[in-house]
Amino acid sequence: MADAALIATGYQVFDAHRKEELGYGIYKGVITSLDMEQMIKHGKILNANGDEPKRITFLQCVGSRDEKSGNHYCSKICCVTAVKQAIEVRKQLPKCEASVFYMDLRMWGQGFEEMYRTAQEKYGVSFVRGRISEAAGTFDGRVQLKSEDTLMGLPLKMTTDLLVLMVGMEASCGTKVLGKSCDISGDYGFIRTVNPHLYDNETGRPGLFAAGTCKRPMSVSDSINDARSAANAIKDYLETLG
Ligand code: SF4
Repeated sequence: MADAALIATGYQVFDAHRKEELGYGIYKGVITSLDMEQMIKHGKILNANGDEPKRITFLQCVGSRDEKSGNHYCSKICCVTAVKQAIEVRKQLPKCEASVFYMDLRMWGQGFEEMYRTAQEKYGVSFVRGRISEAAGTFDGRVQLKSEDTLMGLPLKMTTDLLVLMVGMEASCGTKVLGKSCDISGDYGFIRTVNPHLYDNETGRPGLFAAGTCKRPMSVSDSINDARSAANAIKDYLETLG
């Protein structure tokens, strides 16, 4: 029997099928940020017909800050990821237009605000404040979008080769099960800690600690720092046992 245990059950990606109106799983031109990451990694960004796309549109906050999906929180990493991916698209396909539809951009972390400026000034990425309400396939494999530019107060219709859904983070199944069975389940099924500011690795159950995205959305660097903090908290706890 162990004196201490650490919960590090992580997160799962929001299932884009739940946003039926955006057409994921129905139209081939609608993909997720994970699909785009793979395309960028392999240097093969292709539209539904296997050709080089002429326009790619990113949509923020899919499954986050969203009444309908029941997730009111921000997933923290997707704004930065969209800007990074839009820059990569423009680097790999200089003739392809890249637009990002956002509610408001949250560029957490050092250097990310500068990256947002670089995306506009150096790579010509367009940013449109507005939400896409509906996506529909066209006869030639593209995607037609209905939206509203909320800065201009105008409805907007456009066609894109790829619509990239920036999917948010949710508590993983393992996180939910453990949270319930140990009675430490918090908001949205994430693990609840004693105090998110001061005792954020302690669960309130002696010897049971938590780290990383089982508690809430975090970036990789946040998770690494949190893991270090959890190791220290466990060491302190074991020392009190003598
Ligand atoms: S990080 Fe950006 S895209 Fe992601 S949920 Fe927050 S505001 Fe939306």
